[in-house]
Amino acid sequence: MVKYSGVRESRPGRINDLGTTGAQAEENYKKGCLKRADRSFAQGLQCQQINSMAALMSLEDAVFISHSPQGCVGCTTMAVDMYRVGQYHRGIKNIKNPRIIVTNIDQKSAVFGGEKKLRDSVKKAVERYAPKLIFIYASCASGIIGDDIDAIAGDLQTEYPDTIIIPIHCEGFKSKICASGFDAAFLSINKYILKGEKIDKEENLVNLFAPTTVSYADQKEMERMLTRLGAKVNYIPFYSSLEKIRKIPAAIASTSICKVFADEFMKTLLEDYEIPYSHTVMPIGIRNTDKWYRGIAKILHKEDEVEEIIAKEHERIEPLIASLRARLQGKRVFICGGTGRSFAAAALIDDFGMELVGLETPTYDDDAQVDIEYLNGIHKNFVLDIANMQPFEQVNLVNKLKPDAFIGVPEWAAKLGIPTTHVLDGKRPTMGYDGLLFLGNKIADQLQNPGFNKKLAKHVRLPYKDSWYSEDAFKYITGRD
Ligand code: SF4
Repeated sequence: MVKYSGVRESRPGRINDLGTTGAQAEENYKKGCLKRADRSFAQGLQCQQINSMAALMSLEDAVFISHSPQGCVGCTTMAVDMYRVGQYHRGIKNIKNPRIIVTNIDQKSAVFGGEKKLRDSVKKAVERYAPKLIFIYASCASGIIGDDIDAIAGDLQTEYPDTIIIPIHCEGFKSKICASGFDAAFLSINKYILKGEKIDKEENLVNLFAPTTVSYADQKEMERMLTRLGAKVNYIPFYSSLEKIRKIPAAIASTSICKVFADEFMKTLLEDYEIPYSHTVMPIGIRNTDKWYRGIAKILHKEDEVEEIIAKEHERIEPLIASLRARLQGKRVFICGGTGRSFAAAALIDDFGMELVGLETPTYDDDAQVDIEYLNGIHKNFVLDIANMQPFEQVNLVNKLKPDAFIGVPEWAAKLGIPTTHVLDGKRPTMGYDGLLFLGNKIADQLQNPGFNKKLAKHVRLPYKDSWYSEDAFKYITGRD
């Protein structure tokens, strides 16, 4: 069997450049007519290196070496911020920064190689911090010049036997789907830490995979739900440790909070350690929370128990949702987020009686088809933009569709004066039954208080010519016909 390469495009049927409608996408996918297109102009993508780094950045006793020019770690600021706030929420008084070292590949290293810089960085990391783990992240530059980070790591491992040195192949150019960065990190964890070794099972232990964008409130809500099913939760890799990573093979089941986080890794865990897993949806909104909960309950053989819990949860929250619906009914929404969050948010707005007019999400595949079929059943004629960011397409669409509210990554829509709610809020509740109420109130409050974005739109200009707003938003997608 061919092992998964860590590049998401290598899975058959995955598409990441498309401009269409929900209905057309569903029909064409069924007919096998969705082609892998491309963009003749693209405006910056989220790179997979940041996802590889962010996924592991809160691990205890670890140093993160980016074998790259300095600029590559620029976008770690978001993950660093999440890590710092996450520590505060967990009651930690002395808040730490993650230990990030950049080898600073420059023109000279590009010609003569960056090996010495990498060796020196590892040496410094060991001398300064004596960590249990050192992760070496590849970058476009290290990949292009051909530095052999595996061989260098292997060599240094002999020199520093008390630290596990783990190379991660997350060269930015390798994949246009930034979630490939998560896969690259997990492939290396399996190869260098777990190594295929089977250990004794621990009763009721469940691996709960969580990315950086999950708030502490969401962690507690997910743990509360799993504990009610009798599970003992191994929450990883966010805010965890080498010891917790080593426990992964001891689990009796796995699930993930995010749809595109650890999904490929859970397949590996089934193949290498016989750990069954549940991969359904992100638990945002009633329908998705129920579906997520039933998914893991089935693996744990707790189908009857989960139905009882779900009935009680519905009884508790439905009156509160009804009052939110009175505030949100009929509002038109545009959604933009990662694959898991965007589909989950699209299902969530149905709880509040809102209407989906546009959806932007990075990939389309078998999983997305299931979600689109569901969404087409409740929302009619929404525009579907398969794009890893691409703000120029988004502002064009948002400007034409004129939604009442925007849910997702909000920067550009906010500058158009639309009320926005961030769906990647790693600091506040979003998930499970409790998160749903918090998120609903947040959307309703934004709609009632749109002043900030309105003022922003008056004073900030997006960098596009007026003529762009009347063009076809998908004009730069080639090979789609
Ligand atoms: S790894 Fe490549 S794509 Fe990622 S930040 Fe560095 S140069 Fe950019």
